[in-house]
Amino acid sequence: MTVPSKPLVIAIDGPSGSGKSSVSRAVAQRLDLAYLDTGAMYRALTWWCVQKGIDLEDQPCVTQAAKDLPLVMDTDPGFPSVQVGGVPIDEAIRSSVISESVSKVAINLGVRDELCRRQRALIADSIQAAGGVVAEGRDVTTVVAPDAPVRILLSASQEARLGRRAKELHGGDGHAAVKATHDQIVRRDKDDSTVSQFMHPAPGVTLVDTSDLDFQQSVQAVLDVVRTQRVHQQQ
Ligand code: C5P
Repeated sequence: MTVPSKPLVIAIDGPSGSGKSSVSRAVAQRLDLAYLDTGAMYRALTWWCVQKGIDLEDQPCVTQAAKDLPLVMDTDPGFPSVQVGGVPIDEAIRSSVISESVSKVAINLGVRDELCRRQRALIADSIQAAGGVVAEGRDVTTVVAPDAPVRILLSASQEARLGRRAKELHGGDGHAAVKATHDQIVRRDKDDSTVSQFMHPAPGVTLVDTSDLDFQQSVQAVLDVVRTQRVHQQQ
């Protein structure tokens, strides 16, 4: 696929289990762009606060931690990585302890201001370094990069999202696995929805529903939107 002239910022939001991380990363690889996982930044801050024994409900203290956080994000889509204070924490931030508590950090508006500032700086750096970026999260299309030339909401039915995450976390999508995954999807999205709007596309944002698509089809659906929107913008 030929995608016309860079720089290109592709903003992708979506709920848990929509496939946005793996799809966004694959799209970045296909288009030779950087890849920014904004959720990993909220997870990194949560991990750091837990390490330091900071009460996640103490909003001023967590906001200060966000400002001090020695975070380095590597945006190479082949090897994206997250380091805090020189320590790689890619695996640690995916633990259930972090997944269960990250929303407490994410609903803190002081934290959101600071991480949004850093995300915009990373997007600017990626434009310089790679000519563009696929940035994904919950508020990239609406708050972090509302002027991005391509904005997509990747979604899927709750049933599909629960099934996918249950397979990822518990190796199957039977009743028990789906039940065990409920907190990771439904409760987390409910809490996150109090500060970000990612269940329905904002005006100008294109909805891609992946409920009936496999991984490759989802990647292709996003690439199709990118191509169509870029062609329209050049007309
Ligand atoms: O995408 P992921 O599940 O890794 O995101 C982890 C958490 O980070 C979300 O549940 C949400 O609380 C927070 N988040 C956010 N805004 C973003 C990205 C993630 O609030 N742009």
